[in-house]
Amino acid sequence: MSLGNLPDRLLVIAPHPDDETIGCGLIAYETVKRGGSVWVAIATNGEDSRSGSRQEFIAEVRHAETSMATAVLGIKSKNVRWLNLPNTNLTAHEDQLVLLVEEIVELCKPNVVLVTASSDPHPDHAALGRAARRAVFATDPALFEYMVWGWYDPLSWLRILIRTRDGSASGAERPFGAVQFRSPEGLECKRRALSCYHSQLGPTAVKVGLPAGTGMLSHRFLSHFLKTSEVVFPVNTVARELIESGVTSDASDR
Ligand SMILES: [Zn+2]
Repeated sequence: MSLGNLPDRLLVIAPHPDDETIGCGLIAYETVKRGGSVWVAIATNGEDSRSGSRQEFIAEVRHAETSMATAVLGIKSKNVRWLNLPNTNLTAHEDQLVLLVEEIVELCKPNVVLVTASSDPHPDHAALGRAARRAVFATDPALFEYMVWGWYDPLSWLRILIRTRDGSASGAERPFGAVQFRSPEGLECKRRALSCYHSQLGPTAVKVGLPAGTGMLSHRFLSHFLKTSEVVFPVNTVARELIESGVTSDASDR
């Protein structure tokens, strides 16, 4: 896809520290490179990512990793915001999330909001996607979803889409289509940003050229996101109109 219509004010909303880079690193990089502003709002501190570790310590580590990764992408530190909701339990805080998303949108006044898909197999990711739809769907910013765990587990993603194909109250109804952003030159930067997440990268990350870490993300998972393109799904009318306003797609790489 041509990036000529990239927004000048982009807000990436992520459930956990790392999802913003995994799902949107290239788009964030290109937006900054073209002189735009990027904000990142992270719903949780990722404190439950390890069993047996002190949650405060893990949260500190993940904040530090996010600071480094977003700096690599060119995002200003003051533009990284933490919503401080409990990790692995966003579904129970969906109403609160709606208010927090409304607040951050009011603060940043983005043209485009990117959020994890309401059809993502991870419950936290889906809850955040649903909350963003409730907060933004009918308003000005173009709302796009990005997929994380569905690329790794497409059967689960498909089951969710089939289960919700009639647009049920879950909010996981299908978006209008898929749009691919290509940035071959951004891949190296995204790779460096991902390398900052040492606590999340698994020992097999070396197989895809990332440092071996102590976390759970395998080379099989990571390989889906080390590409020269990222796919997003327009979910509201403003997003669809943005897509129809002249950008062209190129689906050859994903
Ligand atoms: Zn996540």
